[in-house]
Amino acid sequence: MAHSRPKIITYSSSWTLVPTHYCRNTCGYCAFVQRTGARAQLVSINEARREIERAHAAGATELLIMSGEGVEESRAVRDALSREGYTTYIDYLIAVARIALEYDILPHVNIGNVGEDELRALRAVAPSMGMMLETLDAGLRRSAAHLRAPDKEPARRLQTLRAAGAARVPWTTGLLIGIGETECSRAETLKAIARIHEQFGHIQEVIIQPFTPHTGTLMEEQRAPRFEEVRNAVLLARELLPREVAVQIPPNIAPRFLELVEAGARDFGGISPDGDRINLEERWLAASFYYAQLAKRGYTLRARLAMYDDFITPHWLSPEMLERAARVRRRLPQFAADSLATEKEVYV
Ligand code: SF4
Repeated sequence: MAHSRPKIITYSSSWTLVPTHYCRNTCGYCAFVQRTGARAQLVSINEARREIERAHAAGATELLIMSGEGVEESRAVRDALSREGYTTYIDYLIAVARIALEYDILPHVNIGNVGEDELRALRAVAPSMGMMLETLDAGLRRSAAHLRAPDKEPARRLQTLRAAGAARVPWTTGLLIGIGETECSRAETLKAIARIHEQFGHIQEVIIQPFTPHTGTLMEEQRAPRFEEVRNAVLLARELLPREVAVQIPPNIAPRFLELVEAGARDFGGISPDGDRINLEERWLAASFYYAQLAKRGYTLRARLAMYDDFITPHWLSPEMLERAARVRRRLPQFAADSLATEKEVYV
């Protein structure tokens, strides 16, 4: 099973829908979490549909449905679920995913730790899901990074990775680099991912994501990792992960992306027509810019579906998802012949 052919760099034309910014954790680096105010509320189904219509009009083929963890602990979220006629957050997510499928957009769900039964329910409508493992460095549970983040307990996150394998969900995970973890623990985290993948075969990609300090967070004063640390992490990932597991880097957070490609990265993740909704301070460039930059080094940027091609089989996907995958493939963006002329940085 070989994911990445030489010289092909993949990405997904992805649109992010955040049902709520509520999360019960407080990670020291997180600028996403909101426990009060409008962003802590739950997006109504009608609002979600409008957002999906925008995604479709912009040409997105993936809907990244992303939220924090333990959202049902929020009274406001529970009340909204009840108003919308749903008993659980998972039921609500399934309804949102079904709307995306109506528009030939494939949902990719990332809501943190999820149990195996919930994953089995979600896989009927979402052909891929993910959760950053981040780090197995247990010392971070005593530092600002994860002191107030019970869901970042390494054992709990490993349990979710295994549950995803048991539920046959094509899965994306990754490491957060520079939050205080040791270099040794990076290797241990990658080896743990490799071991779980050997058991279930479900890890499609591992993101190497550099920590970015955000104003207003506990770790706003901490420096971002040096480029060499990020590059070494890409090299280490390529060395320790099975060949079929792609290494992904987010090119907007890692501006020296060409050097990271040379180090072994083969996927850029979601390049969104509406910018980065999580790292709001990051610049985001259009896919045609990356296409032109990569072409100069002999690489071809190619759009992929939410799940990697090797997972488009009856073992991994339901008959409905297989049929949807074929339809959505016809909507994948293609680069025009003049894309190579796009030298200027096009921001979205
Ligand atoms: S679990 Fe995720 S959303 Fe919640 S605080 Fe941590 S990084 Fe933010």
